[in-house]
Amino acid sequence: MPVTRRELENYIGQLLAVDRFRDYAPNGLQVEGKDAIGRIVTGVTASLALIEAAIEQGADALIVHHGYFWKSEDPCITRTKRTRLARLLAHDINLFAYHLPLDAHAELGNNAQLGARLGLLPTGRFAEQDLGWLGVQEQPLSFTAFARRVEEVLGRAPLEIGEADKLVQRVAWCTGGAQGYFHEAAALDIDCFLTGEASEFVTHLANESGIGYIAAGHHATEQFGIAALGEHLATTLGVEHVHIDLPNPV
Ligand SMILES: [Zn+2]
Repeated sequence: MPVTRRELENYIGQLLAVDRFRDYAPNGLQVEGKDAIGRIVTGVTASLALIEAAIEQGADALIVHHGYFWKSEDPCITRTKRTRLARLLAHDINLFAYHLPLDAHAELGNNAQLGARLGLLPTGRFAEQDLGWLGVQEQPLSFTAFARRVEEVLGRAPLEIGEADKLVQRVAWCTGGAQGYFHEAAALDIDCFLTGEASEFVTHLANESGIGYIAAGHHATEQFGIAALGEHLATTLGVEHVHIDLPNPV
């Protein structure tokens, strides 16, 4: 059953409480397409490859975690940005993007979905806008065993910095590029910090604090939230949903 563009935007906006977040890009409708939406495609990033896949699927709307118009980006519509927008506009496809509101949602969000798959019981939040999550493993694992669990859940080997045998019970995590939160997390009572990416300093902070660091991939750690959102929309609004995962080594 189709919904209107406005109904879909209002529904997701309320569900993810988009107005509560300060973000680096607009959350909601970023590129306007057709008014009636019966078929949605979800994916992590609105790359040209994902747009082409959405066109092939006959999508009326593409819903992503990483959209366009970031604060730091050149606002001009040139080169690859022109190509992406031209393809969306030519096929009348709506582009919706949800960044921090999708990371943070208590059930459908990237952190909630990743934590549940890893068997982490949430105990609290940390960092700005409560974007970081804290939780415990009921059965403590060694750092290496925990890293293997991460590998199994995400289907790729993570970068691991830590003592192999150290027990991991209290974990702080934040999907995507949250290496900048490691300082704040390291001041808490935790055994391991998990995010998507790494920077050079994390090696030293992990070694000197005794807190294990796992960088499991920006794309990989953020693949579940947008898929969960699409499934939720299919169930509650009756739209057709196809999730397309285009793996990314970063
Ligand atoms: Zn991200």
